[in-house]
Amino acid sequence: MIKSAAVVNYAPEKGSVEIREINKPEIGEDDVLLEVVNVGVCGSDLHQWTADHSWPVNYPVVLGHEFGGHIAATGSRVKNWKEGDRVVSETAAIINPDSPMSRAGLYNLDPDRKGFGYGVDGAMTKYVRVPARCLHHVPGQLSFEQACLTEPCCVAYNAVVENSRIKPGDRVIVLGPGTIGILCAAVAKLCGANVAIVGLETDRHRLDIARQYGVEPITGDATEWAKRKDGLGADFIIDAAGASITLKIALQLVRPNGHITKVGWGPQPLGFSLDPLVQKNVTLQGSFSHNWPVWEKVISLLASGSLDVKPIIGGVWPITEWHEAFEKMHKGEVVKSVLKPV
Ligand SMILES: [Zn+2]
Repeated sequence: MIKSAAVVNYAPEKGSVEIREINKPEIGEDDVLLEVVNVGVCGSDLHQWTADHSWPVNYPVVLGHEFGGHIAATGSRVKNWKEGDRVVSETAAIINPDSPMSRAGLYNLDPDRKGFGYGVDGAMTKYVRVPARCLHHVPGQLSFEQACLTEPCCVAYNAVVENSRIKPGDRVIVLGPGTIGILCAAVAKLCGANVAIVGLETDRHRLDIARQYGVEPITGDATEWAKRKDGLGADFIIDAAGASITLKIALQLVRPNGHITKVGWGPQPLGFSLDPLVQKNVTLQGSFSHNWPVWEKVISLLASGSLDVKPIIGGVWPITEWHEAFEKMHKGEVVKSVLKPV
C-alpha cells in the first residue's frame, strides 16, 4: 500500500495537528481519485488548529478544502471525466441529494452537508477522494497555485454578488483584510463599486496588499469614508472579520435602508443592542459557501485574469512545512499560504 504524508487534525484540543502517513484512499463508483497539485490554507484550517472553530469535526481528519490537481483514477459510473483532466473541487463532499435545498441547487445549505477537511478527509496530502459532481475543469492557462484559490473566491462572489447584489457606483465597506475580505473587496470592485477595506493597525501589510485591487485601505475608524458622499453611510457593509462584535461597527457605518452581509464567523455571543438595525431599516444577510454556478463564474474570472489572486499568495510550502505556512498566515504576515504535497 502506498502511503503519503498528510496534515492531520487528530483531536479537538488546541494544536492537535501533525504530519501522518496515510493510505491512498479507496474510491466509490461515483468518485474520482484526485492527485493534488496545490492546496490553499484556509482560515478554517487555522481555526481547527487553534481549536476556536464552531463546527463539528470528524477526528482524525486530513485538513484542506481549497485544492486542485489532476484526475488519477475514475469510478466505474463516472462519465465526462478522464484521467489527467485538470480540475478543482467544490467543498460539499457529502450532501443529501434528495433534500429540498439540494433539489433547489442550494446543496451548500443542505443541513446534511459535510465538507472536506472537517467532515471527510481533505486535500493536504497527495491523493483525495472526490465525488465527480464536485469537479470543475481548470483551463490550461490557469496555474494550480491560482486555481486552488477558486474556493475562497467563490465564498467572496457568493457574498458580494449573489447575496448582496452590489451595483456600479455603490459605496462598499469590507470589514477584515483576511483572504475573504480582500477577495470580497476585489469582487465588489469588479461590480463597479467604490470600495474601502478596514483593518487594525496590525493589519497594515494585508491592507497594503488590498490596495493593489484598487480599494482604499483604512486603519481603525471608517466613519469618515462611510459618510464622505452624503453624510448617511455606506450602501453595503461586507463583514468578513472573524468576530461577532464587528456587526456593531457595521451597524454604525451602514446607511439607512442599507445592507449588511456577514460572511465572517465568530462564535462569541453579541453584547449590544440591535436597535440600529430596526431604526435604520437595514437588511442583515448571512452568506455561506457557494454552489455550482458560482464556481463556473469564478473560474472564468480567474482564467481571463479579471480576478487575479496572485497578490494574496504569500508563498508555497511543501505540506511537511505546514506549521510555518499556518503560522505565517495566523500572524497576518501573509494573506494566503499555499501548500504542495510531497
Ligand atoms: Zn476556505
